[in-house]
Amino acid sequence: GDSFDEECDYLFKAVLIGDSAVGKSNLLSRFSRDQFQLDSKPTIGVEFAYRNIRVGDKLIKAQIWDTAGQERFRAITSSYYRGALGALLVYDITRRATFENLRKWLQELREYGSSDMVIVLVGNKSDLANSAREVNIEDGQSLAQLEGLSFLETSAMENLNVEEAFLSMITKIHEIMS
Ligand code: GDP
Ligand code: MG
Repeated sequence: GDSFDEECDYLFKAVLIGDSAVGKSNLLSRFSRDQFQLDSKPTIGVEFAYRNIRVGDKLIKAQIWDTAGQERFRAITSSYYRGALGALLVYDITRRATFENLRKWLQELREYGSSDMVIVLVGNKSDLANSAREVNIEDGQSLAQLEGLSFLETSAMENLNVEEAFLSMITKIHEIMS
């Protein structure tokens, strides 16, 4: 089963980053809903969820950190990034500014994150693509290519590509670790 106490072969930390209201918390709750143990530490201002994932014959416990709204005040500190092996860098395809701000998030990742961190670029809210898209899929693709990142558009609302986004990060981290 996927119980919290199950023996795992690897434990690693990953973080969610990106502007406020791009859908980070909903992506995490979508990914971790039902099957997973949720552990909340409101006293230190971040929340995280665990999910156990089987990759080949190994059981990986991914601890995924979510901001508790600090990104609003640019108050994410180095401790948030410390020890993180992966990051989902999220923007909102319906708000161009959240894409422009990726430059700032990438700078912060380079400053605080480890150099071999696996970063997956995520353009969220793809369910609104027809009515409200402000960032072309090609823009996401070329930024990802330029920066050497994986890239996916997701919808936390409609559960499109959410599993794929997290699993692509997790399997890449596993490749690096093993
Ligand atoms: P966070 O601040 O980055 O953690 O963003 P939240 O997860 O709190 O989401 C911000 C707002 O966007 C909320 O109103 C969500 O309901 C909405 N939202 C999140 N993901 C999606 C999505 O995939 N599609 C749509 N249409 N709305 C979304
Ligand atoms: Mg949030």
